[in-house]
Amino acid sequence: MTVPGAVQTSMPPVVEFRGVTKTFNAGTPKAFTALDDVSFAVEDKPGCGEFIAIVGPSGCGKSTILNLIQGFDDVYPPTAGEVRVRDRRVVGPGRDRGMIFQKYSSFPHRTVLENITFGLELNQGELDLSRPAARELAREWVSRVGLDGHGEKYPHQLSGGQQQRVAIARTLVLKPEIILMDEPFSALDEPTRYEMQRLIMELWNEQETTVFIVTHSIAEAVFLGDEVWVMTPAPGRVGRVFRDRVPRTRGLDPIDVHQDANFKEVVTEIGEAFRELETGDSGA
Ligand code: ADP
Repeated sequence: MTVPGAVQTSMPPVVEFRGVTKTFNAGTPKAFTALDDVSFAVEDKPGCGEFIAIVGPSGCGKSTILNLIQGFDDVYPPTAGEVRVRDRRVVGPGRDRGMIFQKYSSFPHRTVLENITFGLELNQGELDLSRPAARELAREWVSRVGLDGHGEKYPHQLSGGQQQRVAIARTLVLKPEIILMDEPFSALDEPTRYEMQRLIMELWNEQETTVFIVTHSIAEAVFLGDEVWVMTPAPGRVGRVFRDRVPRTRGLDPIDVHQDANFKEVVTEIGEAFRELETGDSGA
């Protein structure tokens, strides 16, 4: 992340917030400011992408940040400021951005393959992809997310982890430049979480996209993130950014990494920053 006024590269930032404030129910007694004057710029890194992990107390506006990048109706537009993606103001959702939620978001009446082809069908004109080609691509993705043999099943016939694999495939098949993940693994048990962390790390290395992940697990943030942002309580701001201290974990196994002494130290350090910001003890 860079702050406004810092030296910029010639490429426009992938995502930029310029003084973004979001007050829900503004002008009513129920008015609530979730984000207050948030500014950041995530630089474009061609060929490698960036993984931003966001942690912070519940209700501090983490999902609101993702929803604003996505351009969802219920948060858009911001009350003040501007959200920009590659130097263009966000005015609504687009195929360049893909969201993966905590809740399994697949269509229950569609098979795994049909769920994965859904977005391809929706964007058929733009993608110039025939039906058989779309089906072939979906089959490839079934395999890439480790669901071989499950393509003809319906979501209710799958475990929670497998359903999240479908959600990942449905999003990544469209090759979004920005992936937004809102607590994607929170509902999963620990071994499944590790499996999903391995998978997302592997796929992300291939895709080279910019990823924002909101998680309540600091260890998950440190494992997945290139940068870990710690937010203040609402009205949320990005209180601290950790980058240099975050260990490089690409290609490493999450279980091994979680046992590493340096990794544990960084998790503790970020946990302390989290608590300081939460209780207002920090000057940040
Ligand atoms: P977090 O993801 O950090 O838990 P959120 O971004 O979901 O927090 O929400 C921040 C605050 O804004 C919360 O108090 C939440 O209740 C409120 N909020 C979020 N979305 C809406 C909405 N569409 N309408 C009204 N209030 C909302």
